[in-house]
Amino acid sequence: MKLTGKTALVTGASRGIGKAIAKALGAAGAMVVVNYNGSEEAAGQVVAEIQEAGGKAVSLGCNVADPDEVEAMIKKVISDYKYLDILVNNAGITKDNLILKMKEEEFDAVLDTNLKGVFHTCKHAAKQMLRQKSGSIVNISSISGIAGNPGQTNYAASKAGVIGFTKSLARELASREIRVNAVAPGFIETEMTEKLSDSAVEAGKAQIPFRRFGRPEEVAKAVCFLASDEASYITGQVLQVDGGMGM
Ligand code: NAP
Repeated sequence: MKLTGKTALVTGASRGIGKAIAKALGAAGAMVVVNYNGSEEAAGQVVAEIQEAGGKAVSLGCNVADPDEVEAMIKKVISDYKYLDILVNNAGITKDNLILKMKEEEFDAVLDTNLKGVFHTCKHAAKQMLRQKSGSIVNISSISGIAGNPGQTNYAASKAGVIGFTKSLARELASREIRVNAVAPGFIETEMTEKLSDSAVEAGKAQIPFRRFGRPEEVAKAVCFLASDEASYITGQVLQVDGGMGM
């Protein structure tokens, strides 16, 4: 897959799935903007790893839940690199709780980052992509947004929202052949799933036909494909990367 000459912005790329996506896009030749919120040092390490592998990358801090910060981030990318060819909305958080214990702040925080964050970045990226008449957006949803998950009403709502958002935006931008797709990972080995109890991990694996969690690199390959011109006739789709969990 060749992404030489393309500029890609990956949100939440300081670790986990976002880091793997940034590294895969960098290895394919894209200039990668590695976004982070709090983890500046870790994001710098991702940039160093991409550069050591012969790729091009910079890090850029921004809280995707803050509309002003997002506007400034996208403006900086366009002023520095002229084009924004690929946007990967990966930044995400969990604040799990059963509904009777779920605080409004927990619900709002997850929706603000996982869903409104996607709205903020897409709004500004779409303006640029319409101007340049090209672009590809990949939004990271989750199997939780498709099947639901106890303790994750907030998270599942945000990730289901990402799917509806993706399909609507795909329809809005299709006349210019700007593509918008989603990837819905199942259980993937990252810090997010490290928080799960042993019993939750075992219960999770029992639901997966492959009987194992996925690796961030396995999600990254699907994202790179959808982001690339290899997927030139694919838009509005949700690709599940879940070891068969959601089939
Ligand atoms: P992770 O290890 O917890 O990493 C989350 C990343 O998002 C970090 O780089 C974090 O950076 C960034 N982030 C969080 N809030 C942010 C904000 N407001 N603005 C900008 N960046 C922010 O998570 P992960 O497991 O890699 O998950 C990545 C994505 O995949 C998420 O959208 C998640 O919902 C989704 N997903 C994960 C799984 C899984 O099993 N792991 C399954 C399905 C879907 P800072 O530390 O700098 O804040």
